[in-house]
Amino acid sequence: MKKIIIFIGPPGSGKGTQAKRLAQKYGYGHISTGDLLRELQSGLELEEDEAEALREMKRGKMVPDWLIYRLAFKAAEKNLNSGQGIIFDGAVRSTPQAKMYQEFFAGKGLANGLAVVEIALSDEEAAMRLASRRVCKACGEIVSIFAKHYESCPLCGEVLSIRPDDSEEAIQERLRGQGNAALVAIREYYQKLGLLKIVDGNQAVEEVEKQVEEAIQ
Ligand code: ADP
Repeated sequence: MKKIIIFIGPPGSGKGTQAKRLAQKYGYGHISTGDLLRELQSGLELEEDEAEALREMKRGKMVPDWLIYRLAFKAAEKNLNSGQGIIFDGAVRSTPQAKMYQEFFAGKGLANGLAVVEIALSDEEAAMRLASRRVCKACGEIVSIFAKHYESCPLCGEVLSIRPDDSEEAIQERLRGQGNAALVAIREYYQKLGLLKIVDGNQAVEEVEKQVEEAIQ
Protein backbone atom coordinates (compact mmCIF):
# COMPACT_ATOMS: atom_id res chain seq x y z
CA MET A 1 0.00 0.00 0.00
CA LYS A 2 1.16 3.55 -0.70
CA LYS A 3 2.66 5.39 2.25
CA ILE A 4 0.72 8.61 1.55
CA ILE A 5 -2.94 8.61 0.62
CA ILE A 6 -4.73 11.84 -0.23
CA PHE A 7 -8.51 11.98 -0.32
CA ILE A 8 -10.13 14.68 -2.38
CA GLY A 9 -13.83 15.21 -3.08
CA PRO A 10 -16.56 17.73 -2.32
CA PRO A 11 -17.55 18.43 1.30
CA GLY A 12 -19.83 15.65 2.49
CA SER A 13 -18.54 13.06 0.01
CA GLY A 14 -17.37 10.74 2.77
CA LYS A 15 -13.65 11.50 2.87
CA GLY A 16 -13.64 11.58 6.64
CA THR A 17 -15.54 8.31 7.03
CA GLN A 18 -13.23 6.47 4.65
CA ALA A 19 -10.07 8.05 6.07
CA LYS A 20 -11.01 6.99 9.61
CA ARG A 21 -11.76 3.41 8.61
CA LEU A 22 -8.55 3.00 6.62
CA ALA A 23 -6.37 4.65 9.25
CA GLN A 24 -7.73 2.30 11.89
CA LYS A 25 -7.38 -0.77 9.73
CA TYR A 26 -3.79 -0.10 8.62
CA GLY A 27 -2.41 1.88 11.55
CA TYR A 28 -1.92 4.99 9.45
CA GLY A 29 -2.02 8.53 10.78
CA HIS A 30 -5.19 10.43 9.86
CA ILE A 31 -4.76 14.10 9.06
CA SER A 32 -8.05 15.94 8.66
CA THR A 33 -7.39 19.65 8.29
CA GLY A 34 -11.04 20.29 9.27
CA ASP A 35 -10.47 18.40 12.55
CA LEU A 36 -7.17 20.20 13.16
CA LEU A 37 -8.96 23.53 12.72
CA ARG A 38 -11.73 22.50 15.10
CA GLU A 39 -9.08 21.48 17.65
CA LEU A 40 -7.46 24.86 17.25
CA GLN A 41 -10.86 26.44 17.84
CA SER A 42 -11.27 24.60 21.13
CA GLY A 43 -7.83 25.72 22.36
CA LEU A 44 -7.56 28.54 24.84
CA GLU A 45 -5.44 31.17 23.19
CA LEU A 46 -5.82 32.12 19.56
CA GLU A 47 -3.84 34.67 17.60
CA GLU A 48 -6.08 37.28 15.95
CA ASP A 49 -5.31 36.00 12.44
CA GLU A 50 -6.19 32.46 13.53
CA ALA A 51 -9.46 33.63 15.10
CA GLU A 52 -10.33 35.45 11.88
CA ALA A 53 -9.59 32.31 9.83
CA LEU A 54 -11.88 30.26 12.07
CA ARG A 55 -14.69 32.80 11.69
CA GLU A 56 -14.35 32.42 7.93
CA MET A 57 -14.48 28.64 8.31
CA LYS A 58 -17.85 28.90 10.11
CA ARG A 59 -19.18 30.87 7.15
CA GLY A 60 -18.13 28.06 4.84
CA LYS A 61 -15.11 29.82 3.33
CA MET A 62 -11.69 28.25 2.97
CA VAL A 63 -9.12 29.24 5.56
CA PRO A 64 -5.80 30.76 4.39
CA ASP A 65 -3.13 28.43 3.08
CA TRP A 66 -0.51 29.37 5.71
CA LEU A 67 -2.74 28.02 8.45
CA ILE A 68 -3.40 24.78 6.56
CA TYR A 69 0.32 24.22 5.94
CA ARG A 70 1.23 25.04 9.53
CA LEU A 71 -1.25 22.51 10.91
CA ALA A 72 -0.94 19.77 8.27
CA PHE A 73 2.85 19.71 7.90
CA LYS A 74 3.39 19.69 11.65
CA ALA A 75 1.06 16.71 12.01
CA ALA A 76 2.67 15.01 9.00
CA GLU A 77 6.18 15.41 10.43
CA LYS A 78 5.01 13.73 13.59
CA ASN A 79 3.52 10.74 11.75
CA LEU A 80 6.52 10.35 9.46
CA ASN A 81 8.97 10.56 12.35
CA SER A 82 7.22 7.66 13.99
CA GLY A 83 7.36 5.69 10.72
CA GLN A 84 3.64 5.85 10.05
CA GLY A 85 1.94 6.19 6.68
CA ILE A 86 -0.54 9.05 6.41
CA ILE A 87 -4.05 9.56 5.13
CA PHE A 88 -4.82 13.17 4.25
CA ASP A 89 -8.50 14.01 4.44
CA GLY A 90 -9.65 17.32 2.94
CA ALA A 91 -6.14 18.70 3.26
CA VAL A 92 -5.91 19.62 -0.44
CA ARG A 93 -8.59 22.02 -1.71
CA SER A 94 -6.81 24.02 -4.43
CA THR A 95 -3.98 23.49 -6.95
CA PRO A 96 -1.55 25.79 -5.11
CA GLN A 97 -2.13 23.58 -2.07
CA ALA A 98 -1.69 20.41 -4.13
CA LYS A 99 1.64 21.74 -5.43
CA MET A 100 2.84 22.71 -1.96
CA TYR A 101 2.08 19.22 -0.62
CA GLN A 102 3.96 17.68 -3.58
CA GLU A 103 6.99 19.78 -2.65
CA PHE A 104 6.70 18.66 0.92
CA PHE A 105 6.50 14.97 -0.06
CA ALA A 106 9.36 15.33 -2.57
CA GLY A 107 11.48 16.78 0.23
CA LYS A 108 10.81 13.62 2.22
CA GLY A 109 11.63 11.34 -0.71
CA LEU A 110 7.99 10.28 -0.91
CA ALA A 111 6.97 11.66 -4.29
CA ASN A 112 6.51 8.13 -5.64
CA GLY A 113 4.81 6.65 -2.62
CA LEU A 114 1.59 8.51 -3.14
CA ALA A 115 -2.00 7.77 -4.15
CA VAL A 116 -4.75 10.34 -4.62
CA VAL A 117 -8.33 9.13 -4.39
CA GLU A 118 -11.26 11.28 -5.37
CA ILE A 119 -14.53 10.28 -3.80
CA ALA A 120 -16.87 11.52 -6.48
CA LEU A 121 -20.25 12.96 -5.58
CA SER A 122 -22.52 15.58 -7.14
CA ASP A 123 -22.94 18.90 -5.34
CA GLU A 124 -26.68 18.21 -5.02
CA GLU A 125 -26.11 14.90 -3.23
CA ALA A 126 -23.39 16.49 -1.09
CA ALA A 127 -25.74 19.32 -0.05
CA MET A 128 -28.38 16.82 1.02
CA ARG A 129 -25.90 14.84 3.08
CA LEU A 130 -24.47 17.90 4.80
CA ALA A 131 -27.93 19.21 5.69
CA SER A 132 -28.78 15.84 7.29
CA ARG A 133 -25.54 15.53 9.24
CA ARG A 134 -25.56 15.62 13.04
CA VAL A 135 -22.53 15.34 15.29
CA CYS A 136 -22.35 14.08 18.87
CA LYS A 137 -20.78 16.71 21.09
CA ALA A 138 -19.54 14.09 23.52
CA CYS A 139 -18.02 11.29 21.42
CA GLY A 140 -17.76 12.86 17.96
CA GLU A 141 -19.94 10.22 16.26
CA ILE A 142 -21.43 11.48 12.98
CA VAL A 143 -24.94 10.37 11.99
CA SER A 144 -27.31 11.15 9.17
CA ILE A 145 -30.91 11.97 9.98
CA PHE A 146 -31.85 11.65 6.30
CA ALA A 147 -33.26 8.13 6.39
CA LYS A 148 -33.59 7.67 10.14
CA HIS A 149 -34.41 10.09 12.91
CA TYR A 150 -32.13 10.12 15.98
CA GLU A 151 -33.17 11.81 19.24
CA SER A 152 -29.67 11.40 20.65
CA CYS A 153 -26.31 9.83 19.85
CA PRO A 154 -26.77 6.12 19.03
CA LEU A 155 -23.34 5.36 20.55
CA CYS A 156 -23.29 7.26 23.83
CA GLY A 157 -26.77 8.77 24.20
CA GLU A 158 -25.55 12.36 24.40
CA VAL A 159 -26.97 15.36 22.55
CA LEU A 160 -26.53 15.61 18.77
CA SER A 161 -25.76 18.99 17.29
CA ILE A 162 -25.45 20.68 13.91
CA ARG A 163 -21.93 21.72 12.94
CA PRO A 164 -21.77 25.53 12.59
CA ASP A 165 -20.67 25.23 8.97
CA ASP A 166 -23.58 22.89 8.18
CA SER A 167 -26.03 25.81 8.24
CA GLU A 168 -27.87 26.19 4.95
CA GLU A 169 -25.94 29.30 3.97
CA ALA A 170 -22.54 27.85 4.88
CA ILE A 171 -23.28 24.63 2.98
CA GLN A 172 -23.99 26.63 -0.17
CA GLU A 173 -20.80 28.63 0.34
CA ARG A 174 -18.72 25.50 0.86
CA LEU A 175 -20.07 23.87 -2.27
CA ARG A 176 -19.43 27.06 -4.26
CA GLY A 177 -15.79 27.25 -3.18
CA GLN A 178 -14.90 23.64 -2.45
CA GLY A 179 -17.37 21.62 -4.51
CA ASN A 180 -17.09 20.08 -7.96
CA ALA A 181 -16.25 23.34 -9.74
CA ALA A 182 -13.16 23.74 -7.56
CA LEU A 183 -12.21 20.10 -8.04
CA VAL A 184 -11.76 20.35 -11.82
CA ALA A 185 -8.30 21.93 -11.66
CA ILE A 186 -7.13 19.74 -8.77
CA ARG A 187 -8.28 16.60 -10.56
CA GLU A 188 -6.44 17.67 -13.71
CA TYR A 189 -3.25 18.40 -11.76
CA TYR A 190 -3.17 14.92 -10.21
CA GLN A 191 -4.27 13.24 -13.41
CA LYS A 192 -1.26 14.73 -15.22
CA LEU A 193 0.99 13.32 -12.53
CA GLY A 194 -0.64 9.92 -13.04
CA LEU A 195 -1.67 9.73 -9.38
CA LEU A 196 -5.46 10.01 -9.49
CA LYS A 197 -7.99 7.26 -8.88
CA ILE A 198 -11.71 8.00 -8.81
CA VAL A 199 -14.22 6.08 -6.70
CA ASP A 200 -17.99 6.62 -6.93
CA GLY A 201 -19.03 8.07 -3.57
CA ASN A 202 -22.69 7.36 -4.20
CA GLN A 203 -22.54 3.78 -2.89
CA ALA A 204 -22.74 2.09 0.49
CA VAL A 205 -19.84 2.94 2.82
CA GLU A 206 -18.49 -0.63 2.67
CA GLU A 207 -18.52 -0.67 -1.13
CA VAL A 208 -16.71 2.68 -1.32
CA GLU A 209 -14.18 1.30 1.16
CA LYS A 210 -13.57 -1.81 -0.92
CA GLN A 211 -12.96 0.24 -4.05
CA VAL A 212 -10.71 2.69 -2.21
CA GLU A 213 -8.59 -0.20 -0.98
CA GLU A 214 -8.23 -1.52 -4.51
CA ALA A 215 -7.23 1.97 -5.68
CA ILE A 216 -4.40 2.44 -3.19
CA GLN A 217 -2.53 -0.85 -3.53
P1 ADP B 1 -15.89 18.99 4.85
O1 ADP B 1 -15.18 17.76 4.42
O2 ADP B 1 -17.34 18.77 5.00
O3 ADP B 1 -15.53 20.17 4.04
P2 ADP B 1 -14.00 19.54 6.96
O4 ADP B 1 -14.19 19.34 8.39
O5 ADP B 1 -13.03 18.69 6.25
O6 ADP B 1 -15.44 19.37 6.33
O7 ADP B 1 -13.60 21.06 6.67
C1 ADP B 1 -14.28 22.11 7.29
C2 ADP B 1 -13.75 23.48 6.86
O8 ADP B 1 -12.35 23.60 7.20
C3 ADP B 1 -13.78 23.82 5.38
O9 ADP B 1 -15.06 24.26 4.95
C4 ADP B 1 -12.74 24.96 5.33
O10 ADP B 1 -13.25 26.16 5.86
C5 ADP B 1 -11.68 24.48 6.30
N1 ADP B 1 -10.61 23.73 5.61
C6 ADP B 1 -10.31 22.41 5.81
N2 ADP B 1 -9.28 22.03 5.02
C7 ADP B 1 -8.94 23.12 4.27
C8 ADP B 1 -7.97 23.38 3.27
N3 ADP B 1 -7.13 22.44 2.83
N4 ADP B 1 -7.89 24.64 2.75
C9 ADP B 1 -8.70 25.60 3.17
N5 ADP B 1 -9.66 25.43 4.11
C10 ADP B 1 -9.78 24.21 4.67
